[in-house]
Amino acid sequence: MADRVLRGSRLGTTSYETDRNTDLAPRVEVVYDCPSGHETRMPMAAEAEIPGTWECRTCGATSLLRDGEAPEARAGKPVRTHWDMLLERRSLDDLEDVLNERLAVLKPAAKPRKSA
Ligand SMILES: [Zn+2]
Repeated sequence: MADRVLRGSRLGTTSYETDRNTDLAPRVEVVYDCPSGHETRMPMAAEAEIPGTWECRTCGATSLLRDGEAPEARAGKPVRTHWDMLLERRSLDDLEDVLNERLAVLKPAAKPRKSA
């Protein structure tokens, strides 16, 4: 189908932009919001699978699809994040301890132990 449309359009004689807007599949405009409040609008083919995230055009951060859930969420599976899995194994108190342990390893200088 798309083949025929491409073959039928002649570059040079007609504006390719006009052909695209009239002949190709219907488009939807998808809006993504980035954590900093930037808005990224993307025209997409209506039947295309719309990604749940997009790179922010302004700052490059990961932007979330504004209306509707991510495609995985629509499939009925609750999305389990690494954070969820972590919380299944450890309480927040545990995590606090682990964090402090790691910080102590990373910053031994915090405890001055130099013998002069
Ligand atoms: Zn941004």
